[in-house]
Amino acid sequence: MDTAKLLSSVPTGLWIGGEERAGTSTFDVLNPATDEVITTVADAGADDAVAALDAASAVQAEWAGTAPRKRGEILRSVFETITASADDIAALMTLEMGKVVAESKGEVTYGAEFFRWFSEEAVRIGGRYTPSPAGTGRIVVTKQAVGPCYAITPWNFPLAMGTRKMGPAFAAGCTMIVKPAQETPLTMLLLAKLMDEAGLPKGVLSVLPTSRPGDVTAALIDDGRLRKLTFTGSTGVGKALVKQSADKLLRTSMELGGNAPFIVFDDADVDAAVDGAILAKMRNGGEACTAANRFHVANSVREEFTEKLVKRMSEFTLGDGLDESATLGPLINQKQLDKVTELVSDAVSRGATVAVGGVAPEGPGNFYPATVLADVPADARILAEEVFGPVAPIAGFDTEEEGIAAANDTEYGLAAYVYTKSLDRALRVAESIESGMVGVNRGVISDAAAPFGGIKESGFGREGGTEGIDEYLDTKYIALTN
Ligand code: NAD
Repeated sequence: MDTAKLLSSVPTGLWIGGEERAGTSTFDVLNPATDEVITTVADAGADDAVAALDAASAVQAEWAGTAPRKRGEILRSVFETITASADDIAALMTLEMGKVVAESKGEVTYGAEFFRWFSEEAVRIGGRYTPSPAGTGRIVVTKQAVGPCYAITPWNFPLAMGTRKMGPAFAAGCTMIVKPAQETPLTMLLLAKLMDEAGLPKGVLSVLPTSRPGDVTAALIDDGRLRKLTFTGSTGVGKALVKQSADKLLRTSMELGGNAPFIVFDDADVDAAVDGAILAKMRNGGEACTAANRFHVANSVREEFTEKLVKRMSEFTLGDGLDESATLGPLINQKQLDKVTELVSDAVSRGATVAVGGVAPEGPGNFYPATVLADVPADARILAEEVFGPVAPIAGFDTEEEGIAAANDTEYGLAAYVYTKSLDRALRVAESIESGMVGVNRGVISDAAAPFGGIKESGFGREGGTEGIDEYLDTKYIALTN
């Protein structure tokens, strides 16, 4: 791949109102496989945030008033443009985020799908008309675009965590300012340029890379023109943002951290469970909010499951994500590498055994190998905290009740996975698990056509599906007399 040529096509300024602008300072973007600087990008501050909101506010009414069919056609054109540029976007994403190119290509497919799906939803924004029960009037209910939105996205899916918000927002007629994670601003900047080329009207999207998320965010939240904040990231930052939004009673959607249980019952097809475990654990190198964080396996099949999982995990090849022989890239940064290392040492100090992996190679790069921890005791931190890395801790259980109780023993509630051959048990357990999403006999659940989101401290709001557009619509009731 010609990296220099690729980088020369990527905007490195602020993207405000459909134009690239220089900032007053810049910050570095690093390659997590080499620790080298890829490039520098403009560093937005509070004034830039206000300029982006000026641009969004200026076109908000016109965009909301654009025919839904036209908005849908523009989104469809964005889908086609992203798909045609998939190789460039994927390579860029691997450069700044680290995941192997095959994973990046998977994300481009998934991320683009939100534009195709919501291009179709744009024309299905409904309402209702009913006579009032007293017979004295008519009730008309209609949906209107919320208005200018602010999206804050994480580094783990640099494209899809943005498109999952932009697709429904633009379909609903909202404008949006996106603040990508500091680690991965390039993918979003390239996307902004591609969307401009695909025909998105200027001002509908602005992108603000910044090393000062607090300044940019405060300027937007405190400005009365902003109508909605949508956040994907850690639970700690999400809670702080909800508190910050309270003064203006800003509408918020929160896609936060997870601690997904992967439960294998004694009647499961163990080979299928191992296949699913590899997907649920190793998709995105383990850096996914839906990643299986802990494996609760019925004691009667635990040894067989562990043995087979260890074999599969030992087949991963660590390396630079751009290298086609690599099947597992680096973690995003040193901080994340330290966290994974610490959670593994904690589990081992409490009695877990390392069945494979467990030792980070020398740098450069933030590499950590595919790891399985067996016999993990209930008090190990890794069962309670999101590891966000390629580590699979396995713990045993005996009865179905114990399996469910272990799965629910967390303040999080995003995703869960259940393996069993019994339909009765699958439904019983899926209904008992406290999470927004449950995969039954499958290790990947994300789908643009399904409502993605959590409960408990994993947040609120849904992205995707027919539900996703509601996050960007206000309900209006118009009372008519007879
Ligand atoms: P993070 O919370 O540190 O950062 C997320 C975003 O918030 C980044 O853009 C960051 O710049 C911004 N941010 C940080 N401090 C801020 C502040 N004070 N004000 C405004 N913005 C601020 O999380 P991360 O480490 O980048 O991402 C990993 C986390 O995201 C994990 O917990 C993961 O589970 C979660 N996640 C959730 C989902 C989901 O859909 N539920 C999807 C992907 C990731």
